Amino acid sequence: MTAPIIRQLAALRAKHSDWIRAGERVAVVPTMGALHPGHLSLVEAAKAACDRVIVTIFVNPKQFNNPEDLANYPRTEHEDAIKLAPYGVDVIYVPDPDQIYPDGFASTVSVAGVADQMEGACRPGHFDGVATVVAKLFLQTGAHQAFFGEKDYQQLLVVRRMARDLDIPIEVVGCPTVREASGLAMSSRNMRLSAAAVAQAGALHPILTKLATQLAAGGDFTLLGKAAEAAILAAGFDKLEYLSLCCAEDLSALDSADRPARLFVAAWLEDVRLIDNVAV
Ligand code: AMP
Repeated sequence: MTAPIIRQLAALRAKHSDWIRAGERVAVVPTMGALHPGHLSLVEAAKAACDRVIVTIFVNPKQFNNPEDLANYPRTEHEDAIKLAPYGVDVIYVPDPDQIYPDGFASTVSVAGVADQMEGACRPGHFDGVATVVAKLFLQTGAHQAFFGEKDYQQLLVVRRMARDLDIPIEVVGCPTVREASGLAMSSRNMRLSAAAVAQAGALHPILTKLATQLAAGGDFTLLGKAAEAAILAAGFDKLEYLSLCCAEDLSALDSADRPARLFVAAWLEDVRLIDNVAV
């Protein structure tokens, strides 16, 4: 059976009150829909940790810095509900736009530090949009725990910082990236790639993991990074936006993996922007 879809905050709050009265723990899994096994792994983790699971589906206009990307973003609510059916989700919250941004909405949640580089630098306003909508979803759902993918590792850190700074009583849990057999990180945007491009995109993860191994052995990023950049372009990517080695905790840029670190990449293929990251 598919879970009930709720579109109004008042109805969500009514459910939530019943659950809290019964002493139940509530999880939220925020998504923009077009669900794939990566999203479903978050739902599974949420279900294992909490009594009740709310999956939210909201294509948040405020986090798209590119109107074309927003217009092209896949919207598959009916299929999403069917995919969620086996997971025992309690509510699918698909808020009507005015439930998130009522008339006259004028507030922005803006995180500095971990939001400044990489995605924050390349997509101006993106993390303000993310932090604003996620703050609202945390407050609206009143969840005890929220589940996010390491696929968007910088987003995970931004959201965690935001919840701590604003004293929102929620634990932000990070879950590993789910990949295709080739290593390609699953993403709703992969749907826009041709079969040939999907095959080319499979080259990205092995290049990253090879570089991570070299860095873990003490290699110098300035030198090795250049070779990896060339390999990414040689694999057929049209453009590389960044390849960065950063501290895993505060995302400061590193020249070598002299502390727990992560490699981050954003690259374009067939007008689709793909991002990925791996631990070093
Ligand atoms: P999105 O719908 O793309 O905004 O993603 C919703 C959530 O799913 C975010 O926490 C993402 O990090 C997470 N997610 C997306 N793709 C993957 C993946 N391949 N593996 C794990 N989590 C993912």
